[in-house]
Amino acid sequence: MSLFPESQDITKDITESVRGWAWRNLMPGADDRDETCTFDLSLYRRLDSELGLMNTTLPESLLGADLDITAPIAAIEAMSECDPAIALSFLSQELLFSHQLYHTWKALGQPLPKRHADILRQKRISGMAMTEPNAGTDVLGMSTTATQTDSGFVLNGTKQWITNATVGDVFLVYARTGEQRRDISLFLVETRAEGVSRLPCDKKMGMRSSPTGILTFSHVALPKDALVGTLHEGLRPMLRNLAVERLALAAQSCGIAKTCLNTMRDYARQRHAFEHKIADFGQIQKFLAESYAQYRAMRTMLYETVAETIQSAPQASLNADATKIFCAKGAEDIARSAIQVLGANGYSHAYPVSRLYRDAVLLSIGGGTNEALQKNISRLLMTDSRL
Ligand SMILES: Cc1cc2nc3c(=O)[nH]c(=O)nc-3n(C[C@H](O)[C@H](O)[C@H](O)COP(=O)(O)OP(=O)(O)OC[C@H]3O[C@@H](n4cnc5c(N)ncnc54)[C@H](O)[C@@H]3O)c2cc1C
Repeated sequence: MSLFPESQDITKDITESVRGWAWRNLMPGADDRDETCTFDLSLYRRLDSELGLMNTTLPESLLGADLDITAPIAAIEAMSECDPAIALSFLSQELLFSHQLYHTWKALGQPLPKRHADILRQKRISGMAMTEPNAGTDVLGMSTTATQTDSGFVLNGTKQWITNATVGDVFLVYARTGEQRRDISLFLVETRAEGVSRLPCDKKMGMRSSPTGILTFSHVALPKDALVGTLHEGLRPMLRNLAVERLALAAQSCGIAKTCLNTMRDYARQRHAFEHKIADFGQIQKFLAESYAQYRAMRTMLYETVAETIQSAPQASLNADATKIFCAKGAEDIARSAIQVLGANGYSHAYPVSRLYRDAVLLSIGGGTNEALQKNISRLLMTDSRL
């Protein structure tokens, strides 16, 4: 019997089917893929061929399932119980690319250009490129430019730390289009375009089987229909999608936390010291009980904020920031506790907790660092009297 009954009906079916599949298909090779930094393309493709997980928030006309963001978020949570790295690559395609592309046009009340719709139907590996070597948190300091020409735009610049960069065919790329700091626009860029080159980033601490790379654009000619949404108005889709990304990263945190919690529970039940189960010791009980309480709070907060985001509640973006910092810290704390409860076994590769701990650290950095989100939250608390 599971210790963790699902509290949200809407997530139940997806969670159960993805979780079962993930434990059968993702968990067995996850350590090896991590060790060798291998992105397993055929395994990745099965997320769609066997689970139907791509384009979940898109309409049926785009080969989607017409569901709200609860669906991919629940899937990401369930996958992250076993392999947060493959979940990260999925997150980039499903939410940072497909969801963002479709919903940017939908928010404007405009139909998708035909080429955009065709690309979405092809479900090609994709992602989103915002960060640059010298502009991460300070995203508006980006130096990639898209200069208007008679036939479209010319793109120049470098994006770094881009998930799926070395394996993807198409990316949403943010670039500067005017003199003002906020003059940012969003573009659809195919990696086969002349002038696009890519390289892998340095070996990472965690999320190692999710490929992270550098995309360089050297005088890349983009057609007019590469523009996504309105010229100079890229900040709107960026901020809207960052809230969704933060919830998805919080979902990764919940998945990691659950496996670490279950692992330490099972270990504490069977490991003996001084003729007792270690679960009989108060200090081990503290690790278990506090981790369980933290996990329950994380998960409740996550799905409450997902619901607020779907309803466009005024506080949704603030609460997405709060959810992400709370859940990222929770995943790291719980994974660290699991390592402690398992002793040397936790520190080794005998159990997945050390891998999950390394993966969890990304969740305080990607999609906005903890410090950036603390600033956002504090600013809103100071200025919004409704809170
Ligand atoms: C595995 C991985 C996958 C990623 N995938 C993508 C992707 O697909 N697409 C994409 O665009 N990006 C991606 N990123 C990049 C990620 O979003 C950035 O790393 C993140 O936004 C932080 O930027 P930075 O690393 O440049 O850190 P910096 O912005 O340089 O920050 C360095 C430190 O300074 C702090 N800091 C910065 N500004 C302030 C401030 N004003 N006040 C207080 N502290 C501050 C930060 O919190 C941090 O501690 C990925 C990163 C990783 C590691």
